[in-house]
Amino acid sequence: MDYQTGLIIKATGGFYYVAAGDVIYECRARGLFRKDGVSPLCGDRVKVEVISGTTGCVSEILPRKNALIRPPLANLDTLAVVTSVCDPAPNPLVIDKMLAIACHKGIRPVLVVTKADLGSAGKLQEIYRLAGIDLFTVSDKSDEGIAEIRVALSHGISAFTGNTGVGKSSLLNRIDSRLALATGETSQKLGRGRHTTRHVELYRIGEDGYIADTPGFSAVELERYEVIRKEELADCFPEFAEYTGRCQFTGCSHTVEKGCAVLSALAEGKIHPSRHASYRALYEDAKKIKEWELKGR
Ligand code: GDP
Ligand code: ZN
Repeated sequence: MDYQTGLIIKATGGFYYVAAGDVIYECRARGLFRKDGVSPLCGDRVKVEVISGTTGCVSEILPRKNALIRPPLANLDTLAVVTSVCDPAPNPLVIDKMLAIACHKGIRPVLVVTKADLGSAGKLQEIYRLAGIDLFTVSDKSDEGIAEIRVALSHGISAFTGNTGVGKSSLLNRIDSRLALATGETSQKLGRGRHTTRHVELYRIGEDGYIADTPGFSAVELERYEVIRKEELADCFPEFAEYTGRCQFTGCSHTVEKGCAVLSALAEGKIHPSRHASYRALYEDAKKIKEWELKGR
């Protein structure tokens, strides 16, 4: 029996398309996955048992480094959070929540600020430079930023998230014209509802990069399925890391405590007030999570 190892680049209607070198195998999954309650996801590296020619069977899922429920994706390397300078106005709390979820999953977060022709991205640049998060500014009126984004995404698997209207489809279309076809405006114009375009597909970019085409994937969906415990939240703010171990009390929540090194850094201007405000708001939300909601996570 011939075995190949490859990457699932498309999962639809019970079929998995696995790229192995230059060949794409059309595969079914073995029944045993259903029994284990694990099904292969787009982004999974898998073993394929070749049946004949380019048809095969997914026989093993190689260890995952992470997985998202919606969109169903495995092994993400980069999550690009998209926001616009205005129309709609950026919401720092939503941005920080997405960035935190990425960090929580071990996914590198980057921020893409669109519609730079409509206003200044200066405020966002100031906040996220201090946070150590890569930020790209783009506008559909010029090529500025697009080449840089392509380079940043040219290795590993990336996905985009952001609220409707921020310019995701326009941006994806400019990064690679194959991408916007199944997202946003275009699919609605073609009358293809989001239901028929639910499948996720990976498109090759650069040397060995893939961008996930994630129809209807908004920030709202991401946060619905991903939960961060309050004790884990500070670790999802990378710029807090050098201070969290220096607080006076162990178990410090970094919100109000005396002798908190994070609050000192905030007072000294080393942590941006906007980021800490998001942290506090997310901490309050996390306090309301019940243990039963976290079962199995
Ligand atoms: P999506 O919902 O995030 O996929 O957003 P779209 O790509 O559909 O864009 C939403 C609206 O913003 C559309 O009317 C676009 O023409 C507009 N838009 C997108 N990018 C830009 C930009 O860089 N500048 C300006 N002025 N408008 C933009
Ligand atoms: Zn503290």
